[in-house]
Amino acid sequence: MSHHWGYAKHNGPDSWHENFPIAKGERQSPVNIDSRSAKHDPALKPLSINYEQATSRKILNNGHSFNVEFDDSQDKAVLKGGPLDGTYRLIQFHFHWGSSDEQGSEHTVDKKMYPAELHLVHWNTKYADFGQAVQHPDGLAVLGIFLKIGSAKPDLQRVLDILDSIKTKGKSAEFKNFDPRGLLPNSLDYWTYPGSLTTPPLLECVTWIVLREPISVSSEQIKKFRSLSINGDNEPEEPMVINFRPPQPLKSRQIRASFK
Ligand SMILES: [Zn+2]
Repeated sequence: MSHHWGYAKHNGPDSWHENFPIAKGERQSPVNIDSRSAKHDPALKPLSINYEQATSRKILNNGHSFNVEFDDSQDKAVLKGGPLDGTYRLIQFHFHWGSSDEQGSEHTVDKKMYPAELHLVHWNTKYADFGQAVQHPDGLAVLGIFLKIGSAKPDLQRVLDILDSIKTKGKSAEFKNFDPRGLLPNSLDYWTYPGSLTTPPLLECVTWIVLREPISVSSEQIKKFRSLSINGDNEPEEPMVINFRPPQPLKSRQIRASFK
């Protein structure tokens, strides 16, 4: 594979193993969550999401999605509790979506696909930085939140309104004072399992925490995601759509639920 990875036929998820053999590893993500096989674990603690001091910095089109990046030089926005030991710092969030509302999420629940999925990415502060953390099986904690179609999410609109300014790959814009708490559902009931990054290098460093309750957004709001381009300024425009990896084999893993 001489070309860079992506989601097209020639460079999509089915070919990632050529450059990243861990793609066929023992703890790859995403997975299908079979709600009846997920076992309630009464030992799981409630999640502790502390985003009051979150400091967003900028928003970037990386050609695969767009990242909203946070200041992670201190314990400002942290995730603790749940299945986690220690403190995990928020570094960025991004979304995955489809070409229509029929598809788009990475995780599925009883094979049901949602139209999009939000990933809030945190790294374990027992390591020096994000780059070190991804080298360890307990390096990252990613909070996955499904998007469903319903009423518009006002807190998402500020993100959508700036996308025109980062339409092409490599573009970024200042994006301060965004409060990620506005993207959380009411309930923090979750499923958890050990997995991986869902994009190359697909490192097996993630404790996944997938919330059961989706957030509602409007169809028009998700449509705005699709107006981004995966190509640079001087290349032909190519819509950023279907940027999700399909579910991978669960293998010997057990998905645990925080709820009955
Ligand atoms: Zn993701």
